[in-house]
Amino acid sequence: MEYVTLSNGVQMPILGYGVYQVTKDECQRCVLDALKAGYRSLDTAQSYYNEEEVGSAVRKSGISRKEIFLTSKVWIEHYGYEECRKSVEESMEKLQTDYIDLMLLHQPFSDYYGAWRALEELYEAGKLRAIGISNFYPDRLIDLASFARIRPMVNQVETHPYNQQVLAKEYMDKYGVQIEAWAPFGEGRGGLFEDPALLEIGAKYQKTAAQVMLRWHIERGVAVIPKSTHYERMVENFNVFDFSLSAEDMEKMAGLDKKESSFFSHYDPAMVEWFVQIVEERKTNHDSRKEHKNW
Ligand code: NDP
Repeated sequence: MEYVTLSNGVQMPILGYGVYQVTKDECQRCVLDALKAGYRSLDTAQSYYNEEEVGSAVRKSGISRKEIFLTSKVWIEHYGYEECRKSVEESMEKLQTDYIDLMLLHQPFSDYYGAWRALEELYEAGKLRAIGISNFYPDRLIDLASFARIRPMVNQVETHPYNQQVLAKEYMDKYGVQIEAWAPFGEGRGGLFEDPALLEIGAKYQKTAAQVMLRWHIERGVAVIPKSTHYERMVENFNVFDFSLSAEDMEKMAGLDKKESSFFSHYDPAMVEWFVQIVEERKTNHDSRKEHKNW
């Protein structure tokens, strides 16, 4: 495994396994399969409703807790200082651990400064080995990185060949924040797994389009957390450390950038209102686990 070194010296595997949209029923089996395939970094979130299953899989695997890098994320309704602190304690309970390797603020809305202060304190208390953010694009990243007491160590953003985040990465590099790709395959949207350029590059190295994408991320220094519920694909996605892309192929990959989201824009007012609505709905109905997109 290769690692990236975060600004506080913590080493994070450059390749991990993500469990967004992995159902509660399947999650324990999937995480056990991922650990068997060799993954030692796991990415979950409060809003995925599967922290318990991740925790029980880690416990069941018999692998020492110290060997595993656990990431989770605080959802917006738990923002603000008090709520955030409480929710991180709850995440630790669900994950059956007394520390989390990386805790992120999931979205750049609501009282993220209050929530960030809670993460700073938990970090200083040794409960969190590293703290970071997700979906903070350059404006919000510069804001938090400049005015918070402790600078975020990681920023997890949508990154794949059709949305390469060149500018966002430049700002993350400038502020010493490690970029991590969510949807490293763009979930295959827009036919990414069948893109002729990826297939052509893959044929040269006897690798699949998925492996070419992951290798490309890694060579850019982007940490990745691909998701699959299929064991053979988990193995395929893990098998990306035995080749490297030529400069010419890296250039070809750069040419695939459409510079726009395959999902939605955090700058779209309708989307921001949608996030507000989710928080409001959950406030009025605490048990509501309505099917919705969380990202
Ligand atoms: P990915 O880009 O990882 O794509 C997952 C999809 O690709 C699934 O449909 C999977 O199918 C398929 N797939 C995986 N491997 C292969 C392969 N080798 N060949 C063909 N198809 C394959 O999308 P995600 O949205 O899941 O992103 C990865 C992780 O990032 C998430 O699980 C989550 O941890 C994190 N994330 C974070 C967000 C945030 O806001 N911070 C937002 C979204 C994701 P199948 O499962 O059937 O194999």
